[in-house]
Amino acid sequence: MNARQIFMNGEFIPAEQGVISVRTHGFSYGTGCFEGIRGYWNAEDQQVYMFRLREHYQRLLNSCKILQIEHPYSIDQLIEITVELVRRNEQKQDVYLRPVAYKGDQTLGVRLHGLEAHFIMTSEPVGNYIGTGGLHCCVSSWRRIDDNAIPSRAKIIGSYVNSAFAKSEAMQNGFDEAIMLTHDGHVSEGSAENIFLVVNNELVTPATTENILPGITRETMMELANRELGRITRERQIDRTELYVADEIFLCGTGAQFAPVVMVDHRPIGDGKVGPISSALQHLYSEVVRGRLPEYRELWCTPVYAAVPQKAQ
Ligand code: PMP
Repeated sequence: MNARQIFMNGEFIPAEQGVISVRTHGFSYGTGCFEGIRGYWNAEDQQVYMFRLREHYQRLLNSCKILQIEHPYSIDQLIEITVELVRRNEQKQDVYLRPVAYKGDQTLGVRLHGLEAHFIMTSEPVGNYIGTGGLHCCVSSWRRIDDNAIPSRAKIIGSYVNSAFAKSEAMQNGFDEAIMLTHDGHVSEGSAENIFLVVNNELVTPATTENILPGITRETMMELANRELGRITRERQIDRTELYVADEIFLCGTGAQFAPVVMVDHRPIGDGKVGPISSALQHLYSEVVRGRLPEYRELWCTPVYAAVPQKAQ
């Protein structure tokens, strides 16, 4: 891999030159938003497929709107920058892309309005974020931030302090991951993942009004479950103890990918093993993101490199 480049305020520059002032508003107050996007290497096609760029960038623009960040790029321009960045870095492996839009002023005083938008994008090689073989989770004593405090609908830098509290509590108590509840005690999401339950062969997931980040992977799961497995998903309020008696549970997100949960608060989920619907979805997801299913490759995968000519039949 050549010297890594990043994209910063309109140009591609060497990563080591990508520095911000300690006085940056977004750093001082967390006033920025970001996306986490994966690209998957497909050795057969000699290709990196970026997964669901359009949906990620639509969410980034929504986050900007909520934070009053006047973003200079359109979705199509953001897609072009992404592809160009991975190409310039000659990355032929799984990659994690991190676009960030933030208040770039070097000024004191906390507010949203009247501040300058800055934008950066980095791309780095990546592996698994959390285990994908069967997680032990706890219900966190930290509640999920409310839409009227810091909106979860936007992927706001500062709101990840809430996730960090929950994740560290879980890990320091010997669990793999935390499941957070809303202020009124209903299931919301993991520290950086959405959650699904399987109940009587149907999928159930907290509605977008339950202070979740509306995940791209969440939407992908609902669509794959419906189209490929004939399972509908109910989006509704979920009680804490529904977790304990669910047939299956899984977490999903760009970083986490697909992570089955086999234990919650020391209670085995189902028979304590990864269940059949989780296994099927986990396999489907891994095929889809690597561009191995043509229908979904067309729909959701953006190739980074020029297509390799097909061999004559
Ligand atoms: N919730 C939170 C709090 C997250 O940080 C993430 C990861 N972006 C998700 C859910 C899953 O979202 P996505 O599937 O779009 O990555």
